Amino acid sequence: MTLDTHDFIAIESRLGAHNYKPLDVVLTRGEGVWVYDIEGNRYLDCLAAYSAVNQGHCHPKILAAMVEQAGKLTLTSRAFRNDQLALLYEELAALTNSHKVLPMNSGAEAVETAIKAVRKWGYEVKGVPDGQAEIIVCADNFHGRTLGIISFSTDPDARGGFGPFAPGFRIIPFGDAEALEAAITPNTVGFLVEPIQGEAGVNIPPSGYFKRVREICTAHNVTLILDEIQTGLGRTGKLLAEEHEGIVADVTLIGKALGGGFYPVSAVLSNTEVLGTLKPGQHGSTFGGNPLACAVARAALKVLVEEGMVENSARLGAYFLERLKAMRSNLIRDVRGRGLMLAVELHPEVGGARPFVEALRGKGILAKDTHDHTIRFAPPLVITREEIDWAMERIEPVFTASAA
Ligand SMILES: *Cc1c(COP(=O)(O)O)cnc(C)c1O
Repeated sequence: MTLDTHDFIAIESRLGAHNYKPLDVVLTRGEGVWVYDIEGNRYLDCLAAYSAVNQGHCHPKILAAMVEQAGKLTLTSRAFRNDQLALLYEELAALTNSHKVLPMNSGAEAVETAIKAVRKWGYEVKGVPDGQAEIIVCADNFHGRTLGIISFSTDPDARGGFGPFAPGFRIIPFGDAEALEAAITPNTVGFLVEPIQGEAGVNIPPSGYFKRVREICTAHNVTLILDEIQTGLGRTGKLLAEEHEGIVADVTLIGKALGGGFYPVSAVLSNTEVLGTLKPGQHGSTFGGNPLACAVARAALKVLVEEGMVENSARLGAYFLERLKAMRSNLIRDVRGRGLMLAVELHPEVGGARPFVEALRGKGILAKDTHDHTIRFAPPLVITREEIDWAMERIEPVFTASAA
């Protein structure tokens, strides 16, 4: 008996926790920017798994690296060494100009790791009294779903009913450097921030913000932690989004596309001073740095660079943005983006983006609404100009013709 779309949805609904509300499309195959459902329909993937599939679905070279490594050695734990980890360190450090690397699995784990390391640095190097370390974060942040991280979320859905929460965080508005300076105390050890707030709706801070943030952090001996889990690895048209701002973070978090869409791999990148505070036994992960993860990440980085995906993101992101901006629609309040991290924000009176996302899906485009009235367009970085033209032929009528 073969299951149809309705059957899959019914089973999920009956047996699964309902912590997501996915579009009712059951995907079974992917290649490059395209995904296919079990009914044989083809869609252009404009979410790219929240930027975890920057290299495109089932990239053949990452697949080959994964299969090869899977047949050799997959997991040793960090109790022993493996012959992939050192090579990942070397390649990642060279590519990002980092001094030290700490591999983890999910993005949230990288964020938690950074919080721990920066607190420890605060006590051991900066001289903050024990238990008093403070980390400053921004309103509307998204850094993951663990208890530590939701403790400083401002999203009622992310926090509601999950307390008690971890202390030691201060929240300031995003994009306001003077608010940062005002919030710093002698106990401030770090400022954790996204270069562009992705989940909040692709919020781009005012130009010059990060230059000022960098100056303030340096002046007050506060560690600047950039969460590049979504913006990093080419998404915004640079390898790291910090390059747009002409700054260098003290700690950089990457994840998502580091695993090329195949495997969860994340990493904390830093200088010796911060990561050097972690001594044997003080932090770890059974799967972090395993040889399969390392082989996949090495291939994911290699194709990103070798196949010019970062440059493609810059060039075609600019083209896609121009095309989206050229839409004449009184439903649209703003179109913004950097590289292939784009968003169309609708007027609040329109009453939610979900019907537009459903309409797009009907035309063969998979996109996702964020925060009620914003739709993100963030396809894999391998998209071509022709594919963007194809997409615009379908996107434009959804916003201009329909009275939805
Ligand atoms: C996705 C994301 C995370 C969390 O990553 P997970 O792998 O889902 O734990 C953290 N920060 C940012 C900016 C993200 O986009």
